[in-house]
Amino acid sequence: MSFKNISCQTRIVQLFQNAIRNNRLAHAYIFAGQEGIGKMLFSRELAKTIFCQHPGIDACDSCNTCQRISHDNFSDLFFILPEKNSRVIKIDQLKELQDVLSVKPLESKYKVVIIQSADRMNEEASNCLLKTLEEPPSYAIIILIATSLESVRETVRSRCQIVRFSPLSPTVVRDILINRFHLDNKRAEQLAAVSNGSIERAALLSGADALEKKNWLIGRLLKLEIHDNLTFSKELFDEWRIQDLDALEEKRLQVKELILSVLLYYRDLLVCKTLEGELPVHYPDWKDSLLSKSTSLSEDALFNIIHVIRTSLEYLDHNANINLLLENMITKILHLQFGYRIPSLHEHFSLR
Ligand SMILES: [Zn+2]
Repeated sequence: MSFKNISCQTRIVQLFQNAIRNNRLAHAYIFAGQEGIGKMLFSRELAKTIFCQHPGIDACDSCNTCQRISHDNFSDLFFILPEKNSRVIKIDQLKELQDVLSVKPLESKYKVVIIQSADRMNEEASNCLLKTLEEPPSYAIIILIATSLESVRETVRSRCQIVRFSPLSPTVVRDILINRFHLDNKRAEQLAAVSNGSIERAALLSGADALEKKNWLIGRLLKLEIHDNLTFSKELFDEWRIQDLDALEEKRLQVKELILSVLLYYRDLLVCKTLEGELPVHYPDWKDSLLSKSTSLSEDALFNIIHVIRTSLEYLDHNANINLLLENMITKILHLQFGYRIPSLHEHFSLR
């Protein structure tokens, strides 16, 4: 693969091709954007273009260097990822980075370091990274990959060039699902519609029972009543088999998927409420039921519910207690949906 195969981030490809052509690569970048839209893939292709034995504005993809980069086996390219079973980048890993960068490149004129989940660093690790960013060696190119730019410290951010990646269009997601995951056309289209522009999300959804779970959820949400408060969260955990998952991180991902699906449902209701004609809904199979449901809710209520769900998603990323978070979100949604006044969401969560 090379730049010419990255079909959907043309603007960013051009930005880097210009920088390479004019010999103006920065020492540090932040690649920001939601999960599963190709930030990591792009970083690797960029590294290939920088290191390729045939210098130019795209990698040849066939020389020895390009091949070794494809196989994670090139000595001037380093990756830093959260260790297994850890959600954060640790200070030891950043110290290792300092060691790595203190030695000149072995095979080329650059050393490229790609730090995944750079928005998940504690204070100590951020400080260590900051030292490196303050005085990077002339040959260093450091790429920080982050889903939430806000979670990267301002002092770190200000030393990096920020590159924002956009979500992929449903057509691009559909084509990737067909070509890379070998899904049939109809299923690829359904999944692309609910993927929110993320391949990772679409792939997660392509699991055998994912669409079924989702259909159960929409059917259930349509029948939601105020007294469901006590049982609904347990029902969700059971039907989506969240209790069966061992690792906390897996549970968190599944709950995230669940909350996103709820978000898309209420977004659909808002679309039905406010637009006319061809309605761009995420759950087209449910269009009639959604239309009829939308008449029972006010626009204000829908906006408030969507706000509650978005806030819950943010808290989820900050590692709040999953069960508590879901219960609280449901209580608030029900009260907004059925017209009660509720206290602020912030009162109920403790962060970190
Ligand atoms: Zn090459």
